Amino acid sequence: MKDLHIYNTLKRKKQKFEPINTPHVGMYVCGPTVYGDGHLGHARAAITFDVVFRYLKFLGYKVRYVSNITDVGHLENDADSGEDKIQKKAQLEQLEPMEVVQFYTNRYHENMRNLNVLRPSIEPHASGHIPEQIELVEKIMKNGYAYQSNGSVYFDVLKYNNEHNYGVLSGRKVEDLYETTRELDGQKEKRNSFDFALWKKADKKHLMHWKSQWSEGYPGWHLECSAMGQKYLGEKFDIHGGGLDLQFPHHESEIAQSVAAYGQEPVKYWMHNNLITINGQKMSKSLNNFITLFDLFSGNSDLLEKNYSPMTVRFFILQAHYRSPLDFSNEALKASEKGYLRLMKAAETLQKLTPAKKSTIKVAEIISKATDAINDDFNTPIFISVLFDAVKIINSVNDGKETLNAADLKKLQEFFSSYTHDVLGLLPLEKSAETDSDLTNDLIKTILEVRLNAKNNKDFTTSDLIRDKLLELGVLVKDKKDGFDWEIKKS
Ligand code: ZN
Repeated sequence: MKDLHIYNTLKRKKQKFEPINTPHVGMYVCGPTVYGDGHLGHARAAITFDVVFRYLKFLGYKVRYVSNITDVGHLENDADSGEDKIQKKAQLEQLEPMEVVQFYTNRYHENMRNLNVLRPSIEPHASGHIPEQIELVEKIMKNGYAYQSNGSVYFDVLKYNNEHNYGVLSGRKVEDLYETTRELDGQKEKRNSFDFALWKKADKKHLMHWKSQWSEGYPGWHLECSAMGQKYLGEKFDIHGGGLDLQFPHHESEIAQSVAAYGQEPVKYWMHNNLITINGQKMSKSLNNFITLFDLFSGNSDLLEKNYSPMTVRFFILQAHYRSPLDFSNEALKASEKGYLRLMKAAETLQKLTPAKKSTIKVAEIISKATDAINDDFNTPIFISVLFDAVKIINSVNDGKETLNAADLKKLQEFFSSYTHDVLGLLPLEKSAETDSDLTNDLIKTILEVRLNAKNNKDFTTSDLIRDKLLELGVLVKDKKDGFDWEIKKS
């Protein structure tokens, strides 16, 4: 088996994975900002790093996986001005800000559970780590990389860049930032438009604020990940992940903050997952092509031709390499639904196969091809294509065209169940919604055939009773000339 190699965004190349303190691995992934329902983009980031987490554990590492919940400091426009997103919702619905945070955290967890995403080892809230963030600002100020202005504290990007490289991760040049940084409120307080807030003085209408030596205020968005990453994983840890959209300015600023405070880059391997487009377009509220995970699972959106189960969505995401763009379309999702069913049915068949004396297939070759793919920067699409080669073999053995001896059969069974379930996190059919709905549909059809039979025998009491009982269960039966039609009414 080959060694695991990870594409390190910071080094712009694949590197052999060697943790700082084997067998321990520290992994930090920027979690969701707690505002609004989870969408496909959230699912992609969560599933990408869920597979990384699962695979590292599978390889025997002791992984501490930290993923934060951003409940403060993330402002509209992702800049240092605008309204706090939690606060806006709290004011609108007259709720305590923490009620809003809990509401969305619960919904996020529900989505993740549906997608079979494992919970991280620690899920720290930004609002629960204010002292740590204040301490970090103090360190950065003491080292001369931040300045106070009107009760707020800003990171001095130019000063930092003279000695280090603000752009080491994203490849951006500070000179170019003059043109791309927009003029927004609070810019007058800054030495340069691209300086970012470490601490912001709260204005009167701000609901979430804490005391500090600079002002009654709240921490800047980039600060929480540096503070909580250091607290739970140390000044230098193994893996830091997140969506490509976080590379700049969020992760670039995290590096700058850590170097300014502790004198070293905080992370050995930076990993970024690519984004999801909808029918070729960027997903955004303004383009009206925003699909939440709840929409996806229920089918309740004009953009959807039907509902898709969480496992179909998971499989769809894994069918693309995490660093490639991924385009959502109904066609692609329907193909994933079929693929997932085929794979899981083959997994079931595999458990029922009986061994022969000889093998006509080289099982070890298939397994090594598959593991090479996953070791090559988590190449799940190649891995899945090897699984489909195995599906063909399983079906030929089932048809008696090929044979497997007892040892090979056991190897293939173990490989299939550990990699599809433990590493890729795909649930077997009996635990997924697919079979539930298939079975429900079949049961309804059977009952309606009994009813049709009763009707044909002019036993209208029985036929009406079945119709009414089904209606109570939410199944609407429509009689037609040549039989019946039915639908499950959504409550
Ligand atoms: Zn972060």
